[in-house]
Amino acid sequence: MIISKKINDLVKKYHENKLSHAFLLVTNDINKCNKDIVELIKEISCPKKYQDACQDCNLCYQIENDVIPNIKKIYPDGQQIKKSQILELKEQFKTKPLYIANNIYIINYAEKLNSAAANTMLKFLEEPENSILGFFVTTNKEAMLETIKSRCQIIYNPYDNENITEILNLTDQQLEEFTEIAKEYLPKLINKTEDGIYLNKKYILSVFTEREQIIKFYNYLYWQISEVINKPNQNDLEILKNIPFAQLLKIQKALFNVLESSLFNVNIELLLDNFALEMEEL
Ligand SMILES: [Zn+2]
Repeated sequence: MIISKKINDLVKKYHENKLSHAFLLVTNDINKCNKDIVELIKEISCPKKYQDACQDCNLCYQIENDVIPNIKKIYPDGQQIKKSQILELKEQFKTKPLYIANNIYIINYAEKLNSAAANTMLKFLEEPENSILGFFVTTNKEAMLETIKSRCQIIYNPYDNENITEILNLTDQQLEEFTEIAKEYLPKLINKTEDGIYLNKKYILSVFTEREQIIKFYNYLYWQISEVINKPNQNDLEILKNIPFAQLLKIQKALFNVLESSLFNVNIELLLDNFALEMEEL
């Protein structure tokens, strides 16, 4: 079953012949995202009517077990994705797809494409063939090369997850810091005291100096709030339990919007302004 609604939407677009040829999926969970892409490939390829865990179709079985030569998954070789890996991919995709309608590549940890590999990739992206479908998957969009980003349809695709420190790559100390900051920040956000809508922007800019940290903190808040919404009473952020459910949903939505806009190099002050405005309407 495809967990992500965003990836499910791509299946629909595929059937309507409206699918782009390259996607950048920004996610917090590479594995879940990969599983969803594999399910997508099954859905668009299954000769029978695809159902969850299609058992009676040979093709779905082969896709699941990664033995179809038209599907190529690339992972970093050490710290980088190297040019030789991309050349190999190109070689493999010279032939038309045999078993399924498309040659499909999935490049995991795409921020680790080194510049030689990215350049080789670029020629691929600039002259897209109908038969080739590509997915770049990253947890760190900021580190992606602009040349690749600009040629992909960017999709923000977060999953609900158990382990926040792993997802956001936080040290225990950072987690503690974020928790302390959240305790001070959330009441300000909700009570709208003192100097109104710019308060939350001022506060954030007073505790963080780097854009990346701000985005990380908003990711952390988004995750915490999603946890409370999905699994009430298991959360350690006491303050969230006192916020009415409807309000939590609105904050979650506003945070989602910030995180989504953050993918498009929007100026951080503008992001914070927009967030403040949305919170004002709470
Ligand atoms: Zn099938």
